[in-house]
Amino acid sequence: QEPFPAPGRIRVITIANQKGGVGKTTSTVNLGVALALYGLRTLVIDLDPQGNCSTALGVEHTVGTPSVYDALVGDSTLAEVVHPTTASPLLRCVPATIDLAGAEIELVSVVAREHRLRRAIEAHISALPPDERPHYVLIDCPPSLGLLTLNALVAGDEVLIPIQCEYYALEGLGQLLSNIDLVRAHLNPGIAVRTILLTMYDGRTKLADQVADEVRNHFGELVLQAVIPRNVRVSEAPGYGQSVLTYDPGSRGSTSYVEAARELAQRGVSMRPLDRPSAGVS
Ligand code: ADP
Ligand code: MG
Repeated sequence: QEPFPAPGRIRVITIANQKGGVGKTTSTVNLGVALALYGLRTLVIDLDPQGNCSTALGVEHTVGTPSVYDALVGDSTLAEVVHPTTASPLLRCVPATIDLAGAEIELVSVVAREHRLRRAIEAHISALPPDERPHYVLIDCPPSLGLLTLNALVAGDEVLIPIQCEYYALEGLGQLLSNIDLVRAHLNPGIAVRTILLTMYDGRTKLADQVADEVRNHFGELVLQAVIPRNVRVSEAPGYGQSVLTYDPGSRGSTSYVEAARELAQRGVSMRPLDRPSAGVS
């Protein structure tokens, strides 16, 4: 298997949609595993107190496990809370424990509360030699637009929005987009939606096609050509602490996530380094 090309800069991608059940976690996990299996160093940060992302990557996240909470609310470094994964030596994960549920409130009184995650990521990357820095950092957001998602939007350079090919797919998206605009205006001038991923596509229904067309009309080039089908293997895999790529590599769920990751990687090649600490990766 030909490796994916490295991006022109470290890509910090926030996977957001305040709707639950649209495939944020599934996409974070499977894109992360695909990027790593095809040769790119990838760091997944679980920012949802449910910890589903950690579960699917087989990373322990019981209370007391060093986790993203300790870096956001406490003074741990990411290096102290990052865990290896069984999927690939190139894939590492910062898990979320249920403690994170309290962070929305605990963070309110913390200095520079919206910048906690960005600073933690920047410090982490700066401390690593260029040939150990992740090519990709993927942040899985909770289904809300609170302080955790805000931290992820301030930390990211780009947003990937998974959209479920279902009724009301675009409903509520306006709110997310205007939040991103607010973050760009006040907190993170570089943030932009760069990728839309259509998920849970059911080719047997007319509706799925209508939704896909509507999303493509609205978002144009931002929408990846690869579409993730509804596939039972995708939903089974987390129960075994696995991604669909390792659970059933031949399934349509697996091959479509590999295709989506390949497109994502190809789009990253021409990206220029950003003016931020530790911009370089090799
Ligand atoms: P979110 O993180 O946005 O809340 P999830 O990624 O947890 O959404 O997905 C919601 C549910 O749908 C999960 O049970 C997941 O296993 C299932 N699911 C996600 N993508 C697919 C798919 N392509 N085919 C079948 N089930 C899927
Ligand atoms: Mg989720």
